Amino acid sequence: KTPEDIQNAGTLYMATNAEFEPFEYKDGDEVVGIDIEISQKIADKLGVELEVSDIAFDTLITALQSGKADIVAAGMTASEDRKKNVDFSDPYFDASQAIIVTNDSDITSRTDLNGKTVGVQLGTTGDQYCTNEDGENDISVAEVKRYSKGMEAVSDLLAGRIDAVVIDDFPAEKLVEKNSDKIKKLDEALTSEEYAIAMPKGSTELQKLVNEVLQEMKDSGEMDEIVSKYISA
Ligand code: GLN
Repeated sequence: KTPEDIQNAGTLYMATNAEFEPFEYKDGDEVVGIDIEISQKIADKLGVELEVSDIAFDTLITALQSGKADIVAAGMTASEDRKKNVDFSDPYFDASQAIIVTNDSDITSRTDLNGKTVGVQLGTTGDQYCTNEDGENDISVAEVKRYSKGMEAVSDLLAGRIDAVVIDDFPAEKLVEKNSDKIKKLDEALTSEEYAIAMPKGSTELQKLVNEVLQEMKDSGEMDEIVSKYISA
């Protein structure tokens, strides 16, 4: 859709997966987080209402392709693979994959994942890294267990059913915070990724508008303000 189409509809449909604090998560019935605030800014720029739908992470790209969503803001890494299916805005956040283990774990670095059972979120770059289908890295885990929520992976880690969780660094931080007496995040960064807003392929005009909003937010310091509201330094 063009910005004009969205203005005529009166609503910007944003899809996300609200299991990814601090970027999107539920506070009671409400979906909140960094990506929601950015999306609200985009809706404001268009002069329309924002409607957020909370769906499974691995269905977000389909939602764009089928026209159910105009944008996806989900801490989504602008990966080369995804660029075949969607257009991305300019990046707005640098991220990496991180490892969560129990405090008494013998896993102290990336290569210790070899031969271990690792939990990931289905369809994420962490899943891709641990599955290592194309042999892009030197990690060869024994088994990848895929969860729809990072929290479920952490529950299995706490229950001793898996040896580690691989997930994005800031969400990892938030998950560990809630159980810091039992689990920790290792310092090593496994990847270097950039989050961007996804749109259906061919969204040239909308992409331009989204990039403008992101640039304005960066220039005015508003982006930093929003981020620091959710991530304590
Ligand atoms: N950044 C990761 C990805 O794009 C995870 C995103 C998420 O779980 N919301 O695959």
